[in-house]
Amino acid sequence: MKIILLGAPGAGKGTQAEVISQKLNIPSLSTGNMLREAQKKGTPLGQQAKSYMESGQLVPDELVIGIIKERMAQPDCAGGFILDGFPRTVAQAEALDQMGVAIDRVIEIDVPDEAIVTRMSGRRVCEGCGASYHMTHNPPAAEGVCDKCDGKLVTRKDDDPKTVQQRLETYHRQTQPLVDYYQKAGKLRTIDGNQPLEEASAAILRALEASV
Ligand code: ADP
Ligand code: ZN
Repeated sequence: MKIILLGAPGAGKGTQAEVISQKLNIPSLSTGNMLREAQKKGTPLGQQAKSYMESGQLVPDELVIGIIKERMAQPDCAGGFILDGFPRTVAQAEALDQMGVAIDRVIEIDVPDEAIVTRMSGRRVCEGCGASYHMTHNPPAAEGVCDKCDGKLVTRKDDDPKTVQQRLETYHRQTQPLVDYYQKAGKLRTIDGNQPLEEASAAILRALEASV
């Protein structure tokens, strides 16, 4: 199964991608995590992406298309995968189509902007593996420490309220048109992301089982 998760920053894509990944035993591919990883390593890609990410803009299409293409070619993707944070523009969606990647389902996780802004202030991510947590809605077992890898939990630079506002604008302008794109392709299902994590997960799994 090849799945795309669509939704505003902070809608819960990363967290839900992990849940589906466990359930269906397919990898979750996050372009955001890949770009942060590249930055940490100081690769040319990471350096090119940095200023865009810090200001809440999208990284140029060619850069992300290149990394996701490479990642999808890895053997663990043969049985399917979940795309978290890609595609984010119509050009990226068209590139996927041109690569011959047949997407089975697109799940839109719908959360109103007002809820996003409050959510982001409690978000923490693992420095080691990129897993995300929320101080009240999805806390780790031990404060400040990742459940999965014992890595340190930190606040993302781009999670400050001003940048969040910019990322929301970017989402509405550049990514939301994909809702229409995949609706027309008959692949879209929208679930309510403004409910407890487990309930949103259940709704996603139901949407994946149902025929579109
Ligand atoms: P979120 O979903 O919380 O906004 P991500 O971790 O998915 O966060 O992405 C963080 C940043 O990485 C984005 O604001 C953007 O700058 C960049 N990025 C991630 N994926 C893409 C993509 N597919 N196209 C362009 N930029 C991307
Ligand atoms: Zn971790």
